[in-house]
Amino acid sequence: MSNYFPTGTVYGTVLNFTNEWSHWTERMSQPPYNAPPKAPVLYVKTANTFRRSAEATMLDSDIERVFVGAGVGLLIGADGRPEQVVLLNDLSLEHENYYRTPVKSKNRDGFLTIGDPQQLCPERNLDEFIATLKIEVSINGTHEQTVDLSTLRRKPSQLLADVAEFMTLQPGDVLLLGTDSKADGTRPAAGAGDRVEINVDGLPTLVTVLSAHTAGPCASVHVSQTTAKPGRWARVVWGGAVHEAREHEDGLILTRGHHTGRVLGLDQVQWLPPLAPVNRPRTVLALGLNYADHARELAFKPPEEPMVFIKSATGLIGHKGVTVRPRGIDYMHYECELAIVIGKTASKVLRQHAYEYIAGYCVANDYAIRDYLENWFRPNLRVKNRDTGTPLGPWLVDAEQVDPMNLALKTTVNGNVTQQGSTRDMIFDVPSLIEYFTQFMTLSPGDVILTGTPDGIVDCKPGDIVITEVEGLGALVNHVVAPPDSRSLA
Ligand code: CA
Repeated sequence: MSNYFPTGTVYGTVLNFTNEWSHWTERMSQPPYNAPPKAPVLYVKTANTFRRSAEATMLDSDIERVFVGAGVGLLIGADGRPEQVVLLNDLSLEHENYYRTPVKSKNRDGFLTIGDPQQLCPERNLDEFIATLKIEVSINGTHEQTVDLSTLRRKPSQLLADVAEFMTLQPGDVLLLGTDSKADGTRPAAGAGDRVEINVDGLPTLVTVLSAHTAGPCASVHVSQTTAKPGRWARVVWGGAVHEAREHEDGLILTRGHHTGRVLGLDQVQWLPPLAPVNRPRTVLALGLNYADHARELAFKPPEEPMVFIKSATGLIGHKGVTVRPRGIDYMHYECELAIVIGKTASKVLRQHAYEYIAGYCVANDYAIRDYLENWFRPNLRVKNRDTGTPLGPWLVDAEQVDPMNLALKTTVNGNVTQQGSTRDMIFDVPSLIEYFTQFMTLSPGDVILTGTPDGIVDCKPGDIVITEVEGLGALVNHVVAPPDSRSLA
């Protein structure tokens, strides 16, 4: 078994092989998209998908086959540049949409096998080196596919540059350069009992072991009583250090470390997202079109199944933070949302038990750059996963203090009310969402679900003060600014 486990976010790239692209070309010109994608089409493989080489992936009994996506990833080093290469097997279930790689098909437990990274030679040109690699895929000893990395559409350096335009890759992040189909457009498929081997000269063999899930209904989880007093919790920077704090009548009170008991004014601290650190990449799920009025606003039928996309934690900022509006765009809008924070490991949870798995709630502002949308159904990370693009806070409010299905939402821009709604109008309510996600993926403490936004979005310009507010959770203040001159993010 390999030893390495990603500490950062694993990003995948679709349509980055000439062969794969050619098989989709005809469909790209058809509705609803009508044009090929311009920006790289990225997705996130969440932490619940991670398995080490030779560690079994348990398939639910209703899954007959999974598709193999053998690929090479770049592991980002301390200086923010690729430092190592790693073999990956990005598993997925069959799906139809070329750019909406559905979460339900790609983010199931165990759907990413990860090898041991190998150092890149710093003297060697990255693109030239990657182009020499050939991946050999075999299933139960029979050769199935050769993936030729000289046929990447965006070379690694170009892909890195296009990603850096909107998002900073962090040390520990992995960028999968793409996965190819076979020459006939299909992908190698495997099922329970199969063993997939992936080989590249110079790298350790990557082994995916697929097994049948034998467990019956999910074991009931003991519900531990929380010892913390109900209330509002925050993470702040004060005196050069990060602190946990609770709301206090004079502001907030530090609750841990040397300065426990110290009371500070709300303006004396710098606010961070109210999320305790986790020792793995945090999963951030986001709902599209989850309010009927907003779906109508965008001229869409309300979805029949939750429309989900995945964000990484990289764009999260706190209350009173600053969000950059890129240059040269026409439409950047806020989205006021109720955010759910998971309190304990949740798998196959039924809706009647859903609330037991929630730690608390906070306000989110899920900014989007409409110009970069390209398609509505699965927003590109360039739209939704930008540096500074997702303010969260100010507080995490303990779940027992909140009735999440009856809260007013409101956004003001420079003091004018521009958006109003109620969580009553969600199409998929909080318990349904917990049930939906946990049927195919395990959620862990600290994971976040952004539940969507009602109608009333407007363009925001540099200088605007945007306040998103959810009844009982507080008002999240955000400042929109232009990119700094010296380092254009546009
Ligand atoms: Ca949203």
